[in-house]
Amino acid sequence: MTATPVPQWLVEREAALLAPYAMQSADSAGRRHAESAHTYRGPYQRDRDRIIHSAAFRRLAHKMQVFTGDLGDYHRTRLTHTLEVASIARTLARALRLNEDLVEALALAHDLGHPPFGHAGEETLDECVAGYGGFNHNRHALRLVEELEIRYQEFPGLNLTREVLEGQGFRGEKECSVSARLLEIQIVDAADSIAYDSHDVDDALELELLELADLGGVTIWRDARRRVEKRWANLDDVRLRLAVVHELIDLQVSDVLLQAKSWVDALKSVEDVVNSPSRIGFSNDIEQQKAELEQFLFDAVYRHPKLLAMREKAQSALAEMFVAFVREPERLPSGFRNRLVSEGVERTVTDYIAGMTDRFAMQTHERGGCGGDQ
Ligand code: MG
Repeated sequence: MTATPVPQWLVEREAALLAPYAMQSADSAGRRHAESAHTYRGPYQRDRDRIIHSAAFRRLAHKMQVFTGDLGDYHRTRLTHTLEVASIARTLARALRLNEDLVEALALAHDLGHPPFGHAGEETLDECVAGYGGFNHNRHALRLVEELEIRYQEFPGLNLTREVLEGQGFRGEKECSVSARLLEIQIVDAADSIAYDSHDVDDALELELLELADLGGVTIWRDARRRVEKRWANLDDVRLRLAVVHELIDLQVSDVLLQAKSWVDALKSVEDVVNSPSRIGFSNDIEQQKAELEQFLFDAVYRHPKLLAMREKAQSALAEMFVAFVREPERLPSGFRNRLVSEGVERTVTDYIAGMTDRFAMQTHERGGCGGDQ
């Protein structure tokens, strides 16, 4: 890693705006490949821009979060989910005076490594390459931003800062490096959870996989609904739903902030953050209520017959495509054919399939596993 000098205006701006426990751009561990400083953008702004301009980011528009395109066009895609996470994460970051540029880059990158068809696709690819190290979306995200994205002539990948790479690579895994404990990284995890717990209910109701009455036994929803009904009596079902979803997001964000404020002010440096036993998260009450909501969503929505049918279709398509490309790797696009020797056929085929959008994967499968440049 090579540290990049940071312009003086940014050092002054961050000194004035950020809390002592926030990550300062000047303290970044830098990038794998040396680069000179940019005149008017800091390192994390540059990371954000690199992510937004990447092919992997654009493809999030056609990758599913929970519901596929076949079900209509109201529900969240992987891209709009990502934007909601970025929005919530920035709210948390500003309230806690954290480094918003870093938080935004982390949030926009947080789902880059998902293959087509979300966790169903991930499971299938993991089985396909079980004998070759398996497949995991966090590890794949690192491969994307370090190797597979093409941006510079001198080196592969996006050459992101170590903080963004570690935030991405270690999310959800037990192993925890020093910078993976940054508050900026922790709040993106909380924002992700707030976003999906709220929008999955909204989408499921709009898609009529659920009815409002089904949520009567879910504490967090029932309490939020009560509060909404106290403020506005006689809302129709759609307005009621939207108001309760808004309330759900608001109460979770407020809960995270309240919890954080009880301990972060004692932290005087990033070192204190790293050594602190406390973590960003929800109160015990809200944590339990979210677990109850998630269990409900799992049983009633994620295992809904309509979604299970889609899941089965998607999984067999991906598995068949994997076999077809491993058998005839010469059908891979040239960029991937060039990686066959260094990466081996199974990993190369997995990289190619993981990069596909849901739509492109189904089209490729219908054409008999014969791909092209997406
Ligand atoms: Mg996410």
